[in-house]
Amino acid sequence: MLAAVLLAACAAHTSPGWADVVVNDVSQLNPIHVRQVLAPTTIEEVVAAVKSTSGPISIGGGRFSMGGQTATDGALQLDMRRMDRVVGFSREDRQITVQPGMTWREVQEYIDPYDLSVEIMQSYSNFTVGGALSVNVHGRYIGQGPIVKSVKSIRLVLANGEVVAASPTANADLFYGAIGGYGGLGVIVEATLHLTDNVRVERRSVVMPLSAYRHYFENEVRNDRDVIFHNADLYPDRFETVRATSYVRTDKPVTVQARLPPLDQGYAADRFAFKVVSEWPGGKWIRQHMIEPWYFRGPCIEWRNYEASYDVRELEPASREKSTYVLQEYFVPVDRLEKFVPRMAEILRGHHVNAINVSIRHAFPDPGTLLAWARTEVFAYVLYYKQGTSPGDREAVRGWTRELIDAALANGGTYYLPYQVLATGAQFRAAYPRAAEFFELKDRVDPTDKFRNRLWDAYYPAPSRIPGR
Ligand SMILES: Cc1cc2nc3c(=O)[nH]c(=O)nc-3n(C[C@H](O)[C@H](O)[C@H](O)COP(=O)(O)OP(=O)(O)OC[C@H]3O[C@@H](n4cnc5c(N)ncnc54)[C@H](O)[C@@H]3O)c2cc1C
Repeated sequence: MLAAVLLAACAAHTSPGWADVVVNDVSQLNPIHVRQVLAPTTIEEVVAAVKSTSGPISIGGGRFSMGGQTATDGALQLDMRRMDRVVGFSREDRQITVQPGMTWREVQEYIDPYDLSVEIMQSYSNFTVGGALSVNVHGRYIGQGPIVKSVKSIRLVLANGEVVAASPTANADLFYGAIGGYGGLGVIVEATLHLTDNVRVERRSVVMPLSAYRHYFENEVRNDRDVIFHNADLYPDRFETVRATSYVRTDKPVTVQARLPPLDQGYAADRFAFKVVSEWPGGKWIRQHMIEPWYFRGPCIEWRNYEASYDVRELEPASREKSTYVLQEYFVPVDRLEKFVPRMAEILRGHHVNAINVSIRHAFPDPGTLLAWARTEVFAYVLYYKQGTSPGDREAVRGWTRELIDAALANGGTYYLPYQVLATGAQFRAAYPRAAEFFELKDRVDPTDKFRNRLWDAYYPAPSRIPGR
């Protein structure tokens, strides 16, 4: 499937002039006809492309967002994956400057020999740095939150071709707009990130009723500086039991010798397990009572970089034609856990959603991005589920997704933007109250609405698209 996207992109690179190319994302739910795909390798090539195009321009990283965030009809799509070099590195200062098309895995391969580790990233390492910054992602880290906290500075190509540096102290409006800005303000062409030590971590995993989890988290996890990763998996369909798993700093010798997962690893067993859980009668019971007790048996001591380098290949089904695996995510203040989860469970059960997992993560508040999803200390609820691809199936998903968004909003929370674009305009504005400021900034730095994609087509009231404005 990814190969098909790559092939489409390569075809475009070799076609003379404008072509009609269909691009898609990992979910395969969003085929979009673009005019051309261009894969720049330097900042100068990005500047030239932006200057010579009146728009629309869309920006693609790894294409793991699931709602057309990397394309719009008739766009020039900038495929950033060939801007994949390290531009600067200091072991002493524990920082690295990279081009945005580098994947986390590539960053890890570069810094691992120096015993350094990425401070904040997603659970999987296939994503690009540019895609991660533009979504303002988070991981399973304790004591952290959105990735913006680990970014020292970025360089951005604006709609007029100007290259600007932005940080919390220089062009701060662009820094806090572009991080989490889904490619709406310009092209991130460089990023300088803080790094941390690559320590050894020991896994601890305990199963408990949901009612015990917040107390456990607040007393055993939240303030323990030795806990590096933590998440709690809520078991469907009752969502009343969690498996809380932490990876805690240790001096003990590793039981997993490899410093990073081998790239040639097959994932047949993992894929089969996902099939069992999502398709077999009793699959969810089998997961909770058989697969996971077996998986979590015995000691596991590994390097931080190893645990931070999952490969999305473990999730890829044989086909996404009739059904596809997708994600959604809701962020709700920590003290609303006991209110939000039962309501979420009621909605998912009521609509017979084939939920495979809900992973609970933690984040401290965002330091100031305009489209912040963590405006207070929150738990993130990452829903992984399977859905059909027919128009009827997609309409049903729209319905229950809006109910879940309302449930998050009613509890002072929000929802995540890299997934299917299903929220109403009113839900988007309620979930992202500073969107108006983001749009004012976009009006200023991108007055002709060059940078577009399906997300901003849905919610950005572009002056050029409003008659008389
Ligand atoms: C299996 C799976 C697991 C996931 N786990 C997590 C998780 O643990 N935590 C989390 O927070 N998210 C998670 N996500 C969501 C994921 O982080 C986002 O989809 C992220 O955008 C993926 O990066 P990408 O490189 O594929 O970006 P893309 O999907 O290619 O792009 C995302 C957005 O960034 C913009 N963009 C990309 N590059 C640039 C650039 N150089 N300049 C300006 N804009 C740019 C694009 O235009 C688009 O709007 C997960 C997704 C999947 C599929």
